[in-house]
This record gives sequence, C-alpha cells and structure tokens, in this order.
Amino acid sequence: MDMLEMKKALFEGGIVGAGGAGFPTYAKLSDQAETIILNCAECEPLIKVDRQLMIDYVDEVLFGMQMLVDTLGAKEGIIAIKKSYVTSIQAVNSRIANYKSLKLHILPDIYPAGDEVILIYETTKKVVPQGKIPILVGCVVVNVETVLNIYRKITKDENVTTKFITVAGLVKNPITVEVPVGIMVKDLIDLAGGFTTEDYVMIMGGPMTGKICSAPDIVTKTTKAILVLPPTCPPITMRKSTTRNNLRAAMSACSQCSMCTSLCPRNLLGSAIKPHEFMRAIANGITYNVEPFINSFFCVSCGLCEMYSCHQGLSPRRLLDEYKNGLRAKGVKPPDKPNKPTNELREERKVPEHRLINRLGLAKFDLAAPMAKCEMNIKEVKLLLRQCIGAPCSASVKVGDKVSQGQVVGKPPEGALGVILHASLTGTVTAVNDSFITISKQ
Ligand code: SF4
Ligand code: SF4
Repeated sequence: MDMLEMKKALFEGGIVGAGGAGFPTYAKLSDQAETIILNCAECEPLIKVDRQLMIDYVDEVLFGMQMLVDTLGAKEGIIAIKKSYVTSIQAVNSRIANYKSLKLHILPDIYPAGDEVILIYETTKKVVPQGKIPILVGCVVVNVETVLNIYRKITKDENVTTKFITVAGLVKNPITVEVPVGIMVKDLIDLAGGFTTEDYVMIMGGPMTGKICSAPDIVTKTTKAILVLPPTCPPITMRKSTTRNNLRAAMSACSQCSMCTSLCPRNLLGSAIKPHEFMRAIANGITYNVEPFINSFFCVSCGLCEMYSCHQGLSPRRLLDEYKNGLRAKGVKPPDKPNKPTNELREERKVPEHRLINRLGLAKFDLAAPMAKCEMNIKEVKLLLRQCIGAPCSASVKVGDKVSQGQVVGKPPEGALGVILHASLTGTVTAVNDSFITISKQ
C-alpha cells in the first residue's frame, strides 16, 4: 500500500484523531515524516483508555505503527508511554523486537505529556515552532486508539463505528468500555452502574479541558471520558465562573507573581505566550503594547496556569481563550514568530501529574477503570454530522432508509477537510437534519 492509498482508506474509514482534537488522520500523513510518535500518555488525569488498549491490543497497535512507518517511508516509530504505565510498558517490551523500526520511549509522569508539542520535545528534543504543525520538524503524532482504528481499517476493512471511553468519578463501577458512536452519556452512566450521589456535575473529556455535559449529550468519535465530579471540586467551580467575574478577579487580585508563565509548558519551550503579561494588560487596560494580546494565539488552553499555577485562583486560560477566540472570529491570524531557546529550568518546572491530581481534589477518583465488555441493548444512536475538526458531513440517507452497521450515512463536501460517517447501529433512519442522523433498532 502506498501513502495515497492509505490516505484514501483512512478517509473512507472515517478515521480521526481519537485522542481529543479530532483532526482527520489522513491529512496528517506526509512523505516528509521522519518519525512517527505513538502518543500513549492519556491527555489528562483520570482517563484510562490508551494504557489499557496498549495491553489488550498491543500486537494490533505495534503492527499499525510499523505499517505507518513503512507507508510514509519514515525512519522510525517511537512508542511513547508514561513511566507509571508499567503493565503497558511490559506488554510493549514483550513484542517490540518483532517490529524492525519501532523503539520504546518512557515519558515522565507530567502534565501535559500528551500535548503533541511537548511529546515531540520529550521524545526527540525537537521544538515545533509556535503556531506551526509537527510535520515541520519531520514528526507525525498518532494516538493509540487512532492506530488501532487504522489497523482495523487496513487489515479488516472495518470503518470507525465505536469509541473507547473511561467513565469515572461518582459512579458505582468506574469502567473503560467500547461503545457505539452516537449513544447518550446516560447510557454510559448505566454501564458504570449508575451514580453514587445525586449531587454531581458531569464533564465530557478530562478535568483540565473537558466540557460540562448532561445525560442526553451524545458520544462522538473524539469522546474520551465521562467524569462525574462533585460540584465543589476545582475543575467544576473554575468552569462555572463567568468572564466578567474572571476579569474582576484579575483586576483586584493578580499579584504579577508570574508563576503562571514560569510553569506554562509552551513558554518553557520558548513560545511567546506569557499569561502574566496578558493578565497585567487586561487588568490595567494597557493599549500601548499589543504583544500580550497577540501572543494569546500561542496558548494551547492546557489549563495549567489556572488549575495549578495561580495561587490566587485566577483564570488566565479562560480569559486567554475568550480573547483569542474573539481575534479568530475577526479573521486575525497568528503572527509568525520564532521560538526563543528552551528554558534551561524546564526540567525542574515540569508539573508532576500526581500533584496536579491532588490540587484538583481528584485523588480519590484516580482509581482503576478496567476495560469491560458490557452487554448493551442500545435501541437508538444519534450521529452528529460534525465529528471532527473540519467540515461537517451531509447526510447521504433519508428517513425510512434501512442501514447496517458500518454503512456510509454521511459525506463531507468534495475536497473539504473531513471524513466519511458510518452507521454505528443496524436499523432504520428515523431522523435527519443539518446536525445529526438518528438510527433506531428495528
Ligand atoms: S499566577 Fe496568578 S497572580 Fe501570579 S501573575 Fe499569574 S495570574 Fe497573576
Ligand atoms: S493554558 Fe496557561 S499554561 Fe496552558 S498554554 Fe495557555 S497560558 Fe500556558
């Protein structure tokens, strides 16, 4: 198989980054790639998907990685796994000698090790220039589940119709489970035995970057976790504060200690983002210097500044998000700025994940969420037409059509960035509109 054939297969298989961002995977493939890096770092605390896939599907994932290296003509594939994932490391060590181009790299247990710019630096010591993409330094980063999906498509012609998800927190049996794309959050909570309390808030995704969700919300190809958390824990209280309150707090309480900048993972790699300067500028209405505002483009919203670094409980990330989204909406583009040298204190300033978990008040929820094979009686799925970064699909089915699992039900516009959408349930199409397709079991 050559690269163009693989791109076509991944497009037709509906494969997007399963690690959270949802970039169509075919668009990442390039003959400029020298190194393919497997991201087995889990993006955020409490998520237990990738480490378990690396055990249960070690041969499939390593085979998929070797296939990517061969197809792209890369020099090597790096299997990057966090140090604490001992069983996953053992599984890889027991098989990796069978794959000529693959090597293992042990990552430190830091946050955000799963950020691809941080991952590339940790594994290769190359710095992706701020605002640019990994291929500029010859790297392609792929998530474990994404590689499993590539393996399934290329070797078995299986399209993406399922998603692996961790359900954790205030549920009776924390689990990690493979479910059809398009089921409801409520279905996942049932699989985990239900809530242990009536006083909770749910997050779809991780505690740092996930979004508050509710029972009828829908699982997509990028859903990685459902966390059920107490309303009083920092990840929830921070999300509930308004921009107005965040700004007022910045005006009255930012001491300009610059701890947010000192620990910012991107700033430590020489990026121009300096959250303390941004806070000073917005809190004091500074207009003579636009740099702190323009540099907001280089914040990747990891959340470390507000969830960990700031001793005053302020929200640089949320204010930066607000500002850069406003700039983007007005069509402003990020400036072309070279990185400064990597900070020589970077090693000492990495944030250990266990400390972050303690700071977030989540230590009691950091429990095993074992991979479970659950009996599911899913009667209906709702497939969102937007499943990835890029163009949404248009439905290619109509109400009353009979569809089988894996059958094409939606396509992106010709030539647009996007992937094909497939039925995740065998049944009848019962609703179609601009946002979703509903399929009900007969
Ligand atoms: S860490 Fe908090 S108080 Fe210190 S400069 Fe940053 S926002 Fe201000
Ligand atoms: S969220 Fe904060 S710590 Fe993370 S990249 Fe942005 S400024 Fe840096």
